[in-house]
Amino acid sequence: MLKILLATGNRKKVDEMKVILSDSNLEVFSMNDGIKIPDVEEDGDSFEENSKKKALEIAKATGMVTIADDSGLCVEALDGEPGVYSARYSGENATDLENNKKLIQRLKGIENRKAKFITVITLGTPDGKSFSFKGEIEGVIIDEARGNKGFGYDPHFYLPDYEKTFAEIPEIKNKISHRARALEALKKDINNLLKKLI
Ligand code: IMP
Repeated sequence: MLKILLATGNRKKVDEMKVILSDSNLEVFSMNDGIKIPDVEEDGDSFEENSKKKALEIAKATGMVTIADDSGLCVEALDGEPGVYSARYSGENATDLENNKKLIQRLKGIENRKAKFITVITLGTPDGKSFSFKGEIEGVIIDEARGNKGFGYDPHFYLPDYEKTFAEIPEIKNKISHRARALEALKKDINNLLKKLI
């Protein structure tokens, strides 16, 4: 089994990623195992850039093969906002509640509520190799927050097919989310990747 580090400081993301990777042949470690994950500045213009930077810097610092992700919400009527600024949409150290409030304000009077979550997951090695996988999921933004089981923009991200927000259906989220789709692609390719890594 390949030992792998999940390089995110977001415990909810760690939990989601562990569930999704539970049927893989990877032995997964994270901050929850006491590993110190160095902070990496997310100063890239794209999810791809930030994800790759995080995976490679953290792999180098820890000496472990590392999976990092960079994700966010892109709203069609706002030209892709908040995008790579999703975590700090209403300012540095903004809370999820503050970011959601800003999003709903920005969408006031706008009919088109189409949005998608995007993530790019990168597997990086201490010697500088990287492999990236993208995942997306479409939904619509609703004004009223519904559900309390997710994080970030989940309570406002509504899936018409399920008539629920992501914050109401965590088990389904873990099967269909942007993160699930990118990790499924990584899992499918893992045997090929291992050959290139070892
Ligand atoms: P990060 O930079 O990849 O940690 O994520 C940026 C921000 O995007 C997070 O702080 C959340 O606000 C938002 N985000 C990313 N993934 C999700 C998700 O699965 N649900 C809700 N919000 C998310």
